[in-house]
Amino acid sequence: MIQIHGKSAAPGVAIGPLYFYKSESVPISHKKIKDPLAEWQRYLVARDLAVSQLGALAEKARIQGGDTAALVFETHQLMVEDEDFEQRIHEDIFKNLNNASSAVCNASSYYQTMFNNMDGLYMKARAIDMRDIARRLNDILLGRIRGTLHTEVPVILVADDLTPSDTIQLDKNMVLGFVTSQGSPAGHTAILARSLGIPAVVEVGDLLKRRNRGREAAIDGDAGLVIVNPDHRTRERLEQKQAQQAHRRELLTRLKGKENITQDGRAVSLVCNITTPEDLEAVKENDGGGVGLFRSEFLYLRQNDYPSEEDQFLAYREAALQMRGKSVIIRTLDIGADKQAGYFNMEPEPNPAMGMRALRLCLTRPGMFRTQLRAIYRASAFGKLAIMFPIVTAVWELREARKMCQIVMAELEQEGIPYDKNVPLGIMIETPAAVFISDRLAHECDFFSIGTNDLLQYTTACDRQTSGVSRFYDPHHPALLRAIKMVVDSAHAAGIWVGVCGELASDLSMVQTLLALGVDELSVSPGSVLEVRDIIRKTNVSAIRGECVEEIFRDTEREETGEDAGMDTWFASDY
Ligand code: PEP
Ligand code: MG
Repeated sequence: MIQIHGKSAAPGVAIGPLYFYKSESVPISHKKIKDPLAEWQRYLVARDLAVSQLGALAEKARIQGGDTAALVFETHQLMVEDEDFEQRIHEDIFKNLNNASSAVCNASSYYQTMFNNMDGLYMKARAIDMRDIARRLNDILLGRIRGTLHTEVPVILVADDLTPSDTIQLDKNMVLGFVTSQGSPAGHTAILARSLGIPAVVEVGDLLKRRNRGREAAIDGDAGLVIVNPDHRTRERLEQKQAQQAHRRELLTRLKGKENITQDGRAVSLVCNITTPEDLEAVKENDGGGVGLFRSEFLYLRQNDYPSEEDQFLAYREAALQMRGKSVIIRTLDIGADKQAGYFNMEPEPNPAMGMRALRLCLTRPGMFRTQLRAIYRASAFGKLAIMFPIVTAVWELREARKMCQIVMAELEQEGIPYDKNVPLGIMIETPAAVFISDRLAHECDFFSIGTNDLLQYTTACDRQTSGVSRFYDPHHPALLRAIKMVVDSAHAAGIWVGVCGELASDLSMVQTLLALGVDELSVSPGSVLEVRDIIRKTNVSAIRGECVEEIFRDTEREETGEDAGMDTWFASDY
């Protein structure tokens, strides 16, 4: 059994024989021409054919994978017809007397280099699109046909890289999964694979050797893993995962569009956690009710310098627009602890989880905070935005943060920039301090969202990053559940709503407990929405409330008896 790690590009498990795919490549003949006008006409015919081929592919993609898949080819259509691209080809043919194929190669290389030199995976993925367009135009100019698979059984397709055109033209019934040595999760091939529901792993490098062709392999698209010749246990585990995923797909079709209402008629808000606007597609695809946590720091983490007000405004506006009136809660910058970016020039700290992070950092660097708040308020004119502050430990911190919001609103007012004057302001409950003073905090904000990931780490004094102590980081710890109850009671007494946006909200074994404790909103990863909806719809809250609440006050603590912990390990020579 050989395990190869790549990057997850599309979720799901596929098991089948490996097939090494190589798209035909006939060398381009770079010739000088004598009649530029005739060559230009030849190019225009090829261009028009490319545009209509792309239109047909967009339709095929729409049928197989929906609008997102179609968009890939619609974007290619726009790129082929781009005036600057065409102008370069025109000049190359008329000024340099290069033939059309050469001119297409030259123009496409120019743009590929340009996109590759830009920051961010998204722009690098556009370089691959440009290469795909050039190949299509040259295929037409040279009369080539591509996209054939010579196999009679469905396969896991391995390639150096796949263009979106290769991907959509391959017979979907014959492709169980994709593995590419290059590519990127942000590339359009990955987007297509996701929309088509084909598991995919990219960037495996040259580890998957051709000599493995025909061998059985399994790919785990969620983990970015390729396993050649899986052993019996691995195969069984992956088959189980496959069955669960098939069940989930079933749920997906059955529960889309249904309400999140319990058996006894309680409506629950079920929304999603996202890190960047690119995740919004998954929110819509999984029928999320909005965004309960936009981890805005990822806009900062993917750059080499502070994102400008304009960059941030565009990202938040995108979220507001795409959610079409559904609420989007933007958590202000939560940098620090495990999330560090060099350009912040943070002082080294002996214990960063307890150091300068989140709201503390924002209140210490008000200029930076102001830029983010301005971007959020400007974007609030385009949809339904809310703001939430992370790692709050005292009322004065919340007051200072609110004051900053007021300053920003006054600035925008003066500048005549539109914004929503009633953006709700909430806080994350992530520290024991916030739990204990939740009654006071509740009177000074519009909502609470419980960040159970951090709340558990600070409650149990157990670092969420350190794998050595993971046994002590117990998400079902009664202390955490009691804390949640206390926070819900404080919130409801003050008339505000309370959500959970930490991982506990996606823990299917805990959804009923959270509902019984009175939580009003669950914010989960987009892929969990329908499974959580399924549980909500099957739950009778009034019937289970008493039992669940009693349970957390009973002596329910997970007992780490010798048996549980493994007596052998107690006495092993571990020092
Ligand atoms: C949390 O702490 O539960 C949370 C949602 O925030 P993050 O995981 O981003 O720290
Ligand atoms: Mg947190």
